[in-house]
Amino acid sequence: MTVDRASPAASVSSSPLQGIGVCPGRAAGPVALMGPRPRLPDDRPEVADPAAEAGAAVSALALTAADLELRAAATSIPGAAEVLEATAMIARDPSLEEAIRSAIAKGEPAAWAVDRAIDAFRAMLLDLGGYMAERVADLDDVRDRTVARLLGHPLPGLPERDSPFILVADDLAPADTVTLTTERVLALVTVRGGPTSHTAILARSLGLPAVVACAAAGTLRDGELVEVDGTTGQVRVGIAPDEAVETNRGEQERRAARAASHGPGRTADGHPVALLLNIGDAAGAAAVARVDAEGVGLFRTEFLYLDRQEAPSVDEQVALYSGVLQTMAGRKIVVRTLDAGADKPLPFLNPEGEPNPALGVRGLRTARRSPDVLTDQLAALALAQQATGAVVWVMAPMVATAAETKWFTDLAHEAGLPVAGVMVEIPAAALRAADLLEHADFLSIGTNDLAQYTLAADRMAGDLADLLDPWQPALLDLIRMTAEAGLGAGKSVGVCGEAAASPTLAPVLVGLGITSLSMSASAVADVRDALAAVTLAECRELAVGALAGLRTT
Ligand code: PEP
Ligand code: MG
Repeated sequence: MTVDRASPAASVSSSPLQGIGVCPGRAAGPVALMGPRPRLPDDRPEVADPAAEAGAAVSALALTAADLELRAAATSIPGAAEVLEATAMIARDPSLEEAIRSAIAKGEPAAWAVDRAIDAFRAMLLDLGGYMAERVADLDDVRDRTVARLLGHPLPGLPERDSPFILVADDLAPADTVTLTTERVLALVTVRGGPTSHTAILARSLGLPAVVACAAAGTLRDGELVEVDGTTGQVRVGIAPDEAVETNRGEQERRAARAASHGPGRTADGHPVALLLNIGDAAGAAAVARVDAEGVGLFRTEFLYLDRQEAPSVDEQVALYSGVLQTMAGRKIVVRTLDAGADKPLPFLNPEGEPNPALGVRGLRTARRSPDVLTDQLAALALAQQATGAVVWVMAPMVATAAETKWFTDLAHEAGLPVAGVMVEIPAAALRAADLLEHADFLSIGTNDLAQYTLAADRMAGDLADLLDPWQPALLDLIRMTAEAGLGAGKSVGVCGEAAASPTLAPVLVGLGITSLSMSASAVADVRDALAAVTLAECRELAVGALAGLRTT
């Protein structure tokens, strides 16, 4: 008799919750809900007893500090203790307590007084600029934790638990992701987000099984046992503890098998396809050797500065980039200049209140207003290249025209970076790829944005996932045109969007003429195997089918 393991335990729930799987793998564990930022209620209560109010505010602040200090003492994440201690020091600052007491004396209830006092400190730090301005995020954290305590709301940010959990959130802000580690989080489920949102990209870079756009995840309760399948996009509720153990054991075995995969990307008949990594920092670069990739195809430099109020100095950038470049050990690294804007705004580059940021001053376009930020970055990269001897290719995001391509590649060459290219993320760039290649040394197709702009579908909108699907023939047409322009010019054309991580689509992309595929470390083994199973001629046949609307899954 076959035992249907799901039935008895799953009688608690009915069918699984369905979202979009964005990082393969399965994990089971207890749900930990991510607390939202606390909002002050619209109705402000009258203060009957100012002394009691002040006492509540001061002890909530002290609890926030003590909690942060405890976490600092307990953490093993590199650099996290310093961040937590610095935040605790803000909560212990006597002048903050004084400002809160004075707001209460003027009639503010405790939570409002904390909010107001921190707001004033916030403005002061921003005025001071530099390192002080960077502390604003910490101050906000103190505000959120203290206000949540006073209002009796769950604490915001990544939950604290004694054992690993399945993180369930509405969505993650880029800054929330900084302390997210696979030791704490087994899998990720979000209500919003799409297959190419920053949350999905982060999950893939960590190799964390993940499901996004799962509307019903809003019904999950803290502590309940669930199983997440990052391939099918299903979340099973009400599983039994022994099922959870079994799922996690199976996942360990799958990972061990994947870890044994190595060697350069090749089709069955030996056609080379470079397999490269998408990274955001030095830890990501370290994965290159681990998964035996041929280098880095996309270093998203803006990820280093998401919480910064001011542009980093050249010296600081040289140190950061050198740290990444020196792990490359002779392998190539494609560094992208800051792609600030839309889902990844950088306060020092993006104007506030743009009506349509995805179509606004984003990526290379920010250099129209702040050319120094770009020239500083190029100078820093050239210095880091010199210092480390790494093979650096540099490219610009969000390029639309041949004129922009010439402007950028000239700047890069003048800065001392011999190999300069651009990303193809806008249909205009794909349509005119041959013109771009008169100036660019290479092209790299960002299918996440190219899909968004071709299908006019916001990449953050889970509801439009079918339009953002990289199998859309219109998107494949633009990839084909770009690849053909590359073949004509004898220059390389890679794909570095999430499409490159699909083992079923990879042979199609190769058949369309793509020369390299760049993806998260967790995808390399599957893509390597998929290519090794087909000849170049078969890739071309698959490409013809895909252009005609045939999907191989
Ligand atoms: C893309 O758009 O496909 C890409 C690789 O860039 P990002 O996802 O960082 O916008
Ligand atoms: Mg992009």
